[in-house]
Amino acid sequence: MKKVKKLHLKEPFNKIFRIMLVILGSLVALFIFYRYQIGKLEHLGYSEKASRNILFQFKKDYILSVGENKTLNAAFESVDYKEENLDHYSKIVYQNHKHLISNINRLISKGYSNQNISMILKHGSDEDVIAFSKREKVKYVEEFYSISYAKLKYYDRYVHYADETGEDEETVVLYVNLGMDEEDYKNATIVKEFSPSMLVNKHWMLDESFKPDDLIEIKLPYASEKGMKASKVAINAFIQMYQDAKKEGYGLVINSSYRSYQDQEEIVDTYRSLYGDSYVEKYVALPGYSEHQTGLAFDIGSTEKNVFAESKEYDWMLKNAYRYGFIHRFTKSQEEITGFRSEPWHYRYVGKKIAKYIQEHQITLEEYFAEFLDS
Ligand SMILES: [Zn+2]
Repeated sequence: MKKVKKLHLKEPFNKIFRIMLVILGSLVALFIFYRYQIGKLEHLGYSEKASRNILFQFKKDYILSVGENKTLNAAFESVDYKEENLDHYSKIVYQNHKHLISNINRLISKGYSNQNISMILKHGSDEDVIAFSKREKVKYVEEFYSISYAKLKYYDRYVHYADETGEDEETVVLYVNLGMDEEDYKNATIVKEFSPSMLVNKHWMLDESFKPDDLIEIKLPYASEKGMKASKVAINAFIQMYQDAKKEGYGLVINSSYRSYQDQEEIVDTYRSLYGDSYVEKYVALPGYSEHQTGLAFDIGSTEKNVFAESKEYDWMLKNAYRYGFIHRFTKSQEEITGFRSEPWHYRYVGKKIAKYIQEHQITLEEYFAEFLDS
């Protein structure tokens, strides 16, 4: 028989082993406790990284009292976190910006209120905020940036235009956003994408190569002569409108539609040689600045009367065109904002949703664009 050897630890070793066991047990307990705390913070919407820093900065109780807060989460994730700004972070509305916390720190140090900082962050990109936060504290933040579509990057232009014109903030923001603080035809924004809601005027232009995506010929009798072209989506809407109008005894016809950049150039040259520069300046859009180049604009006529504004079709259009996605584009009372004199015959396809809104609120495409489309 073999003798079973029993392992007998000597006393001191036995003691060390027990101590190690206690330490290990404590570590496990501590780890479980730590995981539990992290879990609690994560449950509130904090990331693991933020939760870890919250614990290490001993701010757990503070966070638990505040609850979910995206700006605080960003602060505890950031190397720019500053303890003295903790209360500010909790009250500033979060934006998904890369340099959010360093920008907030800078804006706090310039003396802006939490509400103003929230406004500043909301109205610009990360880059816009970086540039803005480098300047000394400015006035009128609330005045301009309580307007939903005001842009941080235009701050100087707003102030300049307000000083120059004495207009109220809403007008200032609208006009500057639309480029109307610039002279007509100067520094216009080049519009590249075709869309039924696109804006083209004396500040938003098309280049020589621009063509509508869906250009097709308009069949007779919808157009007054052969060979006219327009955007297919606008033609289809017109045909529907034409047929419904016809059923009610109204005769519509398209007198002019798509004009290329070169077509418009020829028109300008012709009018210039006939009537001179000042006439052209007043009444004719320069090439690139005419809505007709979008293929979405129609000059509409009546089959009954030569002067459209005197026809019953004119009244019918004012009441009904929006139901087909068309708006009366250049009205007398809106000349200042559209930049074009009144044209009773000029209709623009924008789609039903936008046309309905514009009809109901009696605004221009410019105003709709500034408020809802220009991001
Ligand atoms: Zn026209």
